Amino acid sequence: MSVVQYEVYAIKYAHHERRASENFIGGVAPDAHDGPMPLDYFVWLLRGGGREVVVDLGFSAAMAAKRGREHLRCPTDGLRLLNCDPLSVKDVVITHLHYDHVGNFELFPAATFHLQDREMNYATGRHMGQPVFGGAYEVEDVVGMVRRVYAGRVRFHDGDAELAPGVSLHLIGGHTMGLQVVRVATRRGWVVLASDASHFYANMEETRPFPIVYSVADMVEGYGRLRALADSPGHIIPGHDPLVLERYPAPSRDLEGIVVRLD
Ligand SMILES: [Zn+2]
Repeated sequence: MSVVQYEVYAIKYAHHERRASENFIGGVAPDAHDGPMPLDYFVWLLRGGGREVVVDLGFSAAMAAKRGREHLRCPTDGLRLLNCDPLSVKDVVITHLHYDHVGNFELFPAATFHLQDREMNYATGRHMGQPVFGGAYEVEDVVGMVRRVYAGRVRFHDGDAELAPGVSLHLIGGHTMGLQVVRVATRRGWVVLASDASHFYANMEETRPFPIVYSVADMVEGYGRLRALADSPGHIIPGHDPLVLERYPAPSRDLEGIVVRLD
């Protein structure tokens, strides 16, 4: 049986300095000292079988200024470094509708956006009046996606779904009500793009959840789900960990510090 194998790229587009205590419910581990534990921001590209799938869209320079993040490049410029033309991308997976994952959708005019039913319910529903749940959403991003629903450009999924041979989506929840992760076939086996199912390696490896969360129980269950979906713990890619750039190689010298290859 021949299975399509994908090249998988992580593209860093932004950075944010913060303390370790901000990345775990309850702060740092007992006996540990607080220290710097910055976030990197990524979008991901899958390429195989004549198909390109973009996973998440990042945010704009204007949003970075509004939110106090360090913007390094437009995610579309990162994609262009890999000869991926955002104008012709057909499939974009939105893992969830937080501002750092769904901005820039207007730069993908040919795309269908793949989203979980529950994520749209959450982002337009009763919890968004509470900053603890709504704070990482931008209303204009959410409204923009609603407009694309009416334009027939959003494909909704309810739970697990196959997007293409070798690429599947899996509802995890936890961080948000409808967070989904992406499982992709590669030459080294099944890789799982966890997005914010685990911001850092430490969240899932030490079962210490990130503090922006809809359901702590689902988030912790999700760590087990990630392990079940991936061929090994080393096949799980956290959503915001700067270690990803250290653990994986750049596809070429000129892309060092910007892009790594995960397959
Ligand atoms: Zn998020």
